[in-house]
Amino acid sequence: MASIFTKIINGEIPCYKVAEDANYFAFLDINPNAKGHTLCVPKKEVDKILDLDEETYMGLMAFSRKVGKAIEAVIPCNRVGLSVIGLEVPHVHVHLIPLNSMADASFKTKAMVTKEEFTDLAAAIAAKIQ
Ligand code: AMP
Repeated sequence: MASIFTKIINGEIPCYKVAEDANYFAFLDINPNAKGHTLCVPKKEVDKILDLDEETYMGLMAFSRKVGKAIEAVIPCNRVGLSVIGLEVPHVHVHLIPLNSMADASFKTKAMVTKEEFTDLAAAIAAKIQ
C-alpha cells in the first residue's frame, strides 16, 4: 500500500507544499516542532534512509539544503536543523526544523499553527527557493 507521503506527492491527500522537482517533494510538517518545520521526501518510496541508493540519497541532501536555505531566509532562528527519524512514517523524509533551543529538536514541544499561517509559511518559503 502506498505510504501517506506517496499519497501526498500524488495529490490524493492535501498538504502545504513548499517545493517539488522531478525526484523530490517538500511540504510543511502538520504537527511541527516549530513554525516552518518542513519535510523533504524522495518520490521513490523507500522506508529507511540508509537503504536509498547513493544517487537518491545525495540528491535528497542537495534538495534539503536548498529548502533549508529558503527556511532560513524566512524564519528568524538560530539555525535550521536536519533530522531523520522515520519511526512514524515508513517513507524516507528529512525533517528541516528552525531551531532556537534543544527543545525545538526534541519532538516533544510542538508549535500551534493555524491553517492560515501554514498557507502563508508554505508560500513564503516556496518564494525563497533558488
Ligand atoms: P517520523 O516518521 O517519526 O520521522 O515522523 C513523521 C512526521 O510526519 C511527523 O513529524 C508528523 O507530524 C509528520 N506527518 C505525518 N502525517 C503528515 C501529513 N499528512 N502531513 C504533514 N506531515 C505529516
